[in-house]
Amino acid sequence: MTTDPPAPPAPPAPSGTPAPASSSDAPDRSSAPGSSAPGALNLALLRDRNDAAVLRAVRAAGDGTSRVELAVRTGLTAQAISKITARLLADGLLTEAGRSHVAGRSGKPRTLLRLVPDARSALGAEIGRRELQLLRTDLTGAVVARARTPIDPDGEPGPILDRLAAMVRELTADTADTAATAATPGTGGGRVLGLGLACPGPLDTRDGILHQVTGMPRWHGLHLREAVQDRTGLPVLVEKNTTAGVLSRPGSDHRAFVYLGDGVGAGLVLGGRVQRGARTNAGEFGHQCLAPDGPPCACGARGCLEALCLAALRTGRTDRAAAALALGVANLVRLLDVEEVVLGGATLLADPEPYEAAIREALAARLPDPHWQHVTLTRATALAVPQGAAALALSRLFG
Ligand SMILES: [Zn+2]
Repeated sequence: MTTDPPAPPAPPAPSGTPAPASSSDAPDRSSAPGSSAPGALNLALLRDRNDAAVLRAVRAAGDGTSRVELAVRTGLTAQAISKITARLLADGLLTEAGRSHVAGRSGKPRTLLRLVPDARSALGAEIGRRELQLLRTDLTGAVVARARTPIDPDGEPGPILDRLAAMVRELTADTADTAATAATPGTGGGRVLGLGLACPGPLDTRDGILHQVTGMPRWHGLHLREAVQDRTGLPVLVEKNTTAGVLSRPGSDHRAFVYLGDGVGAGLVLGGRVQRGARTNAGEFGHQCLAPDGPPCACGARGCLEALCLAALRTGRTDRAAAALALGVANLVRLLDVEEVVLGGATLLADPEPYEAAIREALAARLPDPHWQHVTLTRATALAVPQGAAALALSRLFG
């Protein structure tokens, strides 16, 4: 295992993006320790929601915001804001940050409140077919520590998950956290909110079970969430790598995260909401058939986009891989009318220009009116997937 120095600050946590746990199709938090039962709209749950709304508003304000501004931003009463901020100050999540220059109605400057970034932290992991990455973020989503280790995709998952648990212990050693003190939102009981875990699909994020992951035969049927919770004692939220990628930063309300690493996939935000599909398996973009008589794919079919890309890359033909990916992206834009495509994945990011050029060309050639249906291409960072996974853990606090 190698431990890297802290990475540069991450992009802000995905405010403006559908925060995972606030969407109707958000990960099922009912199975996460410390969360409330679904449908139990009790006072405690209401308190959690209001606390989360205040925390989101403070985070969005950045440098500091007053209680009066918080009431306006959240729609809560001044009395509620006063109680909530007192609680969050006592928990160490907020701190007073001086006074505003603008005087309130009373003529006195208002006390500003801001988030304490290191009051809690979140973990995000990415299980790839060749590497396991783990990072820790503060409450703003900035990466404060990272570790990674190579893995054998044909290996048994147990020892790999044991290594993940060891990395978790190493990265959280200075937080004095143990399984028994994992932070429960709003209680101040510990410092690590949880572990977001991203991996290739198919993955049922509701029951936390992997289904026939291509290239990882021994992982089929694995109760991933349970296995990692048992090893770490932390609340674990599982997510497909591509969905974690699309959640890693704010962006258009109609966007796709297109991933080319050791596989091909896409994460989707449509109408401002992350899309997981009926069985949480939306985004199997790499297994659209582009050539029915094409090369066999690890999924059992032939001529999938992923099979075409990987076959081209094995022979050093980046141009062919780029052309196949570009065709897939043009199909995706025609089907879903996204206006932003975020490109990610280690293979693509190692040499992005040919892919971007091919995608621009395919969009120009295949969209009926490419000026009207303009698509912005952006690049994700190499840490987008584990950062998106950590954002899931942060959603335990921010909603
Ligand atoms: Zn396939």
